[in-house]
Amino acid sequence: MALIETEAVVLRTLKYGESDAILTLLTPGMGRISAIAKGARKPTSKQGGRLQPGVRLNLSAAEGRGDLLTLRSAQVVDAGAGLWMDGYRLRAAGSVLEIAMRVVPEQVDAEAPYNLVTRALALIARTTARDTPPRLDPYVLGVQAKLLAVSGLVPQLGSCAACGGPPPLVGFSAAAGGGVCPSCVVGSGAETLDPAAADALVALLARPLAEAPDAVSAAAAPGVERIAALMLREHLGVTLRSGTPL
Ligand SMILES: [Zn+2]
Repeated sequence: MALIETEAVVLRTLKYGESDAILTLLTPGMGRISAIAKGARKPTSKQGGRLQPGVRLNLSAAEGRGDLLTLRSAQVVDAGAGLWMDGYRLRAAGSVLEIAMRVVPEQVDAEAPYNLVTRALALIARTTARDTPPRLDPYVLGVQAKLLAVSGLVPQLGSCAACGGPPPLVGFSAAAGGGVCPSCVVGSGAETLDPAAADALVALLARPLAEAPDAVSAAAAPGVERIAALMLREHLGVTLRSGTPL
């Protein structure tokens, strides 16, 4: 059996059987993978406590039947301690992990998404709680925007996505792939486009993730989330629950 050694972030832990856990992991070289951690939930397990969502590991796992790997060993690279000290941070991190879980495919090169998620978790682990819901945190929206880019789903916001005409763009149509002009919006089923949200999305894409708080205001945040959600639903069939705690 081939042994795989990789760094990984735990996206999700599910109980399995009496004492096992099934982990969904994000890796730089293999995208999303699943591994069974045998005995991880026994009270005597040294591993169990380490295998929480948001924790970054160095692991080795054996290939078995099908796609499910068997975890052999795991060393913590970053326990994400800052995330667990604060409910807001925990929920924002949960949103990032959910997005990665739903958007990053299995068994693909995923270095860009992996770096994005680990950077976001590190930023969220020392961020200050905001008045907006954690799922609208600038770092969470930054991850959404940049994962749209990685997935080839950046909405067209500089000119009409339907006819190519110049701004102003008054509607947003995920089916057309972006903002639409006043002539194209008629009968298109497009939603109203919040210009502040469009600007914020463009800024999130252009700037490093660390600068996300400067790119999106609290007022623009719901519109950014809406644009990202429409693109993900239309083009990947993904609907995010968002805001659910880890
Ligand atoms: Zn148009």
